[in-house]
Amino acid sequence: MFAKEVKKPGYEMAMVIITKNKEQKCRFILINVTNVEKPLTTAAFASLAKNKVMVDCDVDAADLHILLHPEIKEKFEFKGIPKANISQEKCTRCGECAKVCRYDAVILSFSSSYFIDKFSCEGCRVCMYVCPAEAISMEDNIAGQWYISETKYGPMVHAKLGIAEENLGKLVSVVRENAKLIAEKENCDLIIIDGPPGIGCPVIASITGVDIVLIVTEPTLSGLHDMERVIELTKHFGVKTCIIINKCDLNIDMTERIEDYCKKNSIQLAGKIEFDPIITESIANRKTIIEYSDSKITLNIKNIWEFIQNEFK
Ligand code: SF4
Ligand code: SF4
Repeated sequence: MFAKEVKKPGYEMAMVIITKNKEQKCRFILINVTNVEKPLTTAAFASLAKNKVMVDCDVDAADLHILLHPEIKEKFEFKGIPKANISQEKCTRCGECAKVCRYDAVILSFSSSYFIDKFSCEGCRVCMYVCPAEAISMEDNIAGQWYISETKYGPMVHAKLGIAEENLGKLVSVVRENAKLIAEKENCDLIIIDGPPGIGCPVIASITGVDIVLIVTEPTLSGLHDMERVIELTKHFGVKTCIIINKCDLNIDMTERIEDYCKKNSIQLAGKIEFDPIITESIANRKTIIEYSDSKITLNIKNIWEFIQNEFK
């Protein structure tokens, strides 16, 4: 059901998930911040948490590196779905492949030759099977890269998906799995994951097996709606879920509605963050709010971090 959901722009909520491994050695947090202050919570927790691995699972629009300044130590290619390719030498221009492609990925050029639009090809191989001239083959497709890096807050695993490439959660799983290996090898207590937005495959891949999801929402109708959808998902997977209301003072009525929703649905409120331009200022200066300012909001985020830690006790 969830895999059919289409990611839409303009989410006004964010999500943090925390999880422990079976040996109780590592705990995982997924943070999914979907507004313009996306790296705020994750990066702030990165500054506060001890002995952890950072992970950016929002591979479509990774941005944790903006605040954590990772130094890349290892770089790997991520192979996506293989794409069809037509050999012009073998092709007889019969047009059968174009007839069967449901994704309109077979294009007839002005010079009457057929070729594959790689961005539209879904790798289903139907064209390859129907081609009477055996002119179509499937080719490896490098869909992105993933990295193991070092930051001043500890190791970080992150990735970059290529333009118009499908994620489908595979790259998220690769990144998460490698973060777990590093955490086990280096005996880390915690894995903090900056998760993707929405409720589709990348989110499911991000929250699988985690301990706590922390949703950071904003007091708007769409913020409430997006939050409800994520809560539906976390309930489905039986993952503990908490809420942070960001910019809570900008719409008091809506903040109260979110709080009421949490009470009625037995969802814990981890904390509220008031609007403060210093957050944008800290991001513009490429620093976490913890290192940038000692303001009320910084104390607020520290208290939220305390709350999350207590949830593990
Ligand atoms: S089915 Fe094969 S031979 Fe026919 S147009 Fe397509 S690639 Fe060329
Ligand atoms: S592999 Fe599938 S999607 Fe890609 S061109 Fe062939 S029929 Fe179309």
